[in-house]
Amino acid sequence: ATPTAVMVATGKGASLGVLIKGGNALEKTHKVKMIVFDKTGTLTIGKPVVVSSALFSSISMEDICDIATAAEVNSEHPIAKAVVDHAKMVRKKSGSQTYHVMEAKDFEVHLGAGVSGKVADKMVLVGNRRLMQSRNVPLGPEVEDYISENEHLARTCVLVAIDGTVAGAFAVTDPVKPEAKHVISFLQLMGISSIMVTGDNWATATAIAKEVGIEKVFAEMDPLGKADKIRDIQAKGMHVAMVGDGINDSPALVAANIGMAIGAGTDVAIEAADIVLIKSNLEDVITAIDLSRKTISRIR
Ligand code: ADP
Ligand code: MG
Repeated sequence: ATPTAVMVATGKGASLGVLIKGGNALEKTHKVKMIVFDKTGTLTIGKPVVVSSALFSSISMEDICDIATAAEVNSEHPIAKAVVDHAKMVRKKSGSQTYHVMEAKDFEVHLGAGVSGKVADKMVLVGNRRLMQSRNVPLGPEVEDYISENEHLARTCVLVAIDGTVAGAFAVTDPVKPEAKHVISFLQLMGISSIMVTGDNWATATAIAKEVGIEKVFAEMDPLGKADKIRDIQAKGMHVAMVGDGINDSPALVAANIGMAIGAGTDVAIEAADIVLIKSNLEDVITAIDLSRKTISRIR
């Protein structure tokens, strides 16, 4: 592409909220045949809320909430925020006024799994099934039932283990973006197929994929696993774009022929990407491809 054509196209992109980092990114975009979408915060709104809770021991819901808050209060994960907000509401409803937030000691983040720490001398784990399994916390039939019931409703379960036993759980829901479904089907019409990758569990991932019309899903992936998926597709000779918002998407954003970051995403993702969708609207994936296709065909 001539420098002028690139300037015109990137200028047009910028005015539409599609930030294209240079001519190379613009040229590569028109070759994309497959797009890999992250789930949380990319296909979904990324602001999960707690919609259900359960108790599996004699510990009260207020106490579960306090303990979960102590563990999650220093986590930046959107699920952590959902748990902390919900706990606040439970506290308000119980009428307690002299309430102060505890903070876990020895706080640790387990990427793609949850958090851990010591709360009032108790060992606390807050996270998914994988976190519990890695610490040899057994899941009884009651807990298993709660998990599968909620996962099939496209919810993600947050288990709260205290000294090695699951004492309570929350289920969070994170709705899909309103434009997600039609963007996926429009891409199909443009000859571009879509797949989904996520750190979340298989059942929830499959339910969300179905909602947006994506057939191929890879769940329970860590950040490097997401990047490996990208390389697998490239090994088949295909040009692939990755759309993501999180730190956990950055290796995949870098590995892809074109990385597209959601504007509302983390700085790390935005830096790793070739294109930034400032408005965080998935329709701009199409805008970017359109812009690239039009620029390239005008040049030739
Ligand atoms: P995604 O790829 O969907 O953005 P992540 O890799 O960030 O997801 O996390 C994967 C899963 O790990 C989450 O769905 C959740 O079950 C669990 N998880 C991660 N961080 C936390 C946390 N702070 N609290 C509870 N669960 C968490
Ligand atoms: Mg994400």
